[in-house]
Amino acid sequence: MIEVMDGRQSKDKFSSAKERMLRWDLKGRDITDSRVLAVMAEVPREEFVPQSHRSQAYSDGPLPIGMDQTISQPYIVALMTQELRVDPECDVLEIGTGSGYQTAVLGKLVKKVYTIERFSELADSAKAVLSKLGISNVEFYVGDGSSGWSASRLPPAGCFDRIIITAGVPKIPEPLTEQLADGGLIVAPVGGRSVQGLVVYEKKADELISRAICDVRFVRLIGKYGFEQ
Ligand code: SAM
Repeated sequence: MIEVMDGRQSKDKFSSAKERMLRWDLKGRDITDSRVLAVMAEVPREEFVPQSHRSQAYSDGPLPIGMDQTISQPYIVALMTQELRVDPECDVLEIGTGSGYQTAVLGKLVKKVYTIERFSELADSAKAVLSKLGISNVEFYVGDGSSGWSASRLPPAGCFDRIIITAGVPKIPEPLTEQLADGGLIVAPVGGRSVQGLVVYEKKADELISRAICDVRFVRLIGKYGFEQ
């Protein structure tokens, strides 16, 4: 339906769908951080969704993005961002670039996002959308994010202030704990192959202190410190 509309009508259609998302799916639940809400209002989710699913860009669910992967549900993107408690000085490591939507949301809130995706097709597409949107504080890497960021290319402080894992893991990969600053936070879906708990971890004196948020269903993190294929 959207494809046959002219540009202005199409934009209007997305803005009312986005309004609905903000009002009911985010503010209507427990998203209260005004910076997160402002960025969710700003980033055009339709740009990260395949043409065939654009009419559902602001429905509160995951959508296919190719390679058997999904763009996460808007509420979960907002919730994970809120729980990450970022500020403009943060260096953030993201494992699982996917469509790049979560990357874009974070890119608008932090100093720099370092993002890893195992499929080059998804990384290339995400890179193109972020470039189109003028989001330039993102470094992309294609590979196994469960092993962390390449040691030779770590941020100036030598570690990350925040880490977000956007695929389900059986437990937090050890290399990621090592690359997190003391006092830093990890937000991740941790648990089984189909259902996980969304958990926030704070690193204190080399220990991770956990706080469970809610149950979630993420695709699996496949890798050395993740799930097997
Ligand atoms: N947040 C993303 C978005 O907004 O589009 C959705 C991420 S999707 C649920 C999970 C992503 O993790 C997939 O793109 C998948 O290919 C990627 N992934 C799985 N295992 C990985 C690994 N070991 N390293 C890097 N990325 C991985």
